[in-house]
Amino acid sequence: MSSVNADIDVAIIGAGPAGLSAAAELRRRGAGRVVVFEREATPGGIPRHTAHLGYGARDLHRITTGPRYAAALARRAEKAGVEIEVGRSVRSFANGMVVTTGAGGPAQVRASAVLLATGVRERPRAARLIAGDRPAGVLTTGALQQFAALHHQHVGSRAVVVGAEHVSFSAMLTLAHVDCRVAAMVTALPRHQTYPPLRIATATRHRVPILTRVGVAEIVGRQRVEEVVLTDGRRIACDTVVFTGEWVPDCELARSGGLQMLPTANSPVVDTGWHTQQRGVFAIGNLVHPAETADVCALDGRAAATQVMDWLTLGEWPAAVTPIAVAPPLLWAATTAVGITVRVGEFARGSIETRAGNAVVHRTRSREWTPNRAIHLPANEATSITLVG
Ligand SMILES: Cc1cc2nc3c(=O)[nH]c(=O)nc-3n(C[C@H](O)[C@H](O)[C@H](O)COP(=O)(O)OP(=O)(O)OC[C@H]3O[C@@H](n4cnc5c(N)ncnc54)[C@H](O)[C@@H]3O)c2cc1C
Repeated sequence: MSSVNADIDVAIIGAGPAGLSAAAELRRRGAGRVVVFEREATPGGIPRHTAHLGYGARDLHRITTGPRYAAALARRAEKAGVEIEVGRSVRSFANGMVVTTGAGGPAQVRASAVLLATGVRERPRAARLIAGDRPAGVLTTGALQQFAALHHQHVGSRAVVVGAEHVSFSAMLTLAHVDCRVAAMVTALPRHQTYPPLRIATATRHRVPILTRVGVAEIVGRQRVEEVVLTDGRRIACDTVVFTGEWVPDCELARSGGLQMLPTANSPVVDTGWHTQQRGVFAIGNLVHPAETADVCALDGRAAATQVMDWLTLGEWPAAVTPIAVAPPLLWAATTAVGITVRVGEFARGSIETRAGNAVVHRTRSREWTPNRAIHLPANEATSITLVG
């Protein structure tokens, strides 16, 4: 199968929806040994701990909960003959040599193709440069969901949610499930960024004030959080602070592997076939578009499998891999299996224009665009995307 002298055909790093779907599809298309390395004890990625409905629409054509979706994708991959090595963290992938660590000590394997599918996380407190004490009770939504859904732990009794995008409201739902009241939601932006039904089902229903144009300046508390101080001087008593959204790809491996990165998205540069600038190395899922829904990541995995097979069987690699150029207020643009996805850095009005070279290939109607929300454009060979008056 492989054009390279290797132990395995494909090493996939990360057993989330993207990695598992790519693995299953590769086996379906006839790839030999496909091994998925997952640092956690269970495959499935983020959906394992998002215990609500809303997964699977576009890839499985049914709606299910996160944990059921994760289990279904893992089952499919295993049935297809994929080897899933859990509890193994990948440290490097230079020249196809994939080095891992885990309970059994270090190990390495040579792969003909490497697929990075390490996903996304929320920017934690330290990276948000917030002053103050370091008490217990400071979480991200991901950690909150893990405590609540996987470990059924008590979280706290009065929380401040930092951020006002979809996942922030989802955090509010999780807090309600574990009987933790939300004292306030705070966002530096002038408005929240979710859809009205989700806001009504959460903030309005539980009478949570959404404080806008303000951030958390300081966290106060010795052992446990006691209060937060806002950037306008207001103080809110609470025992829990949940930092939500502000997606950052889990990109350390890609970066240390020498891949060229897109600074505004912190993701590796890929082309429309998810090739990176290193021959034999692909990147898919929310690592390259922080953050899309799980089904889009799964479809990325399936679509990328075709490109991986071309590499394995024909040794085909593009001569140049260049990112789609954007200008402010657009932050970044990336390819997904369902088209191009774009983000704005602030509330902005206008048409979004897609060009291939000098030719305009698509233009949206003029409207207001919301930061932290996915903007989907048709798939085409875009070279640049701009917002025009
Ligand atoms: C808190 C939170 C809530 C979310 N809620 C939703 C939701 O409700 N609905 C929705 O559709 N999407 C949601 N998302 C988006 C979510 O990222 C996607 O749903 C989807 O899981 C992304 O798939 P992925 O395969 O790209 O990455 P992930 O699901 O993040 O999987 C990546 C996997 O790679 C592993 N990994 C990373 N680095 C290494 C390494 N070096 N070695 C080995 N393994 C590694 C990780 O442990 C992880 O299992 C949420 C995201 C977060 C963070």
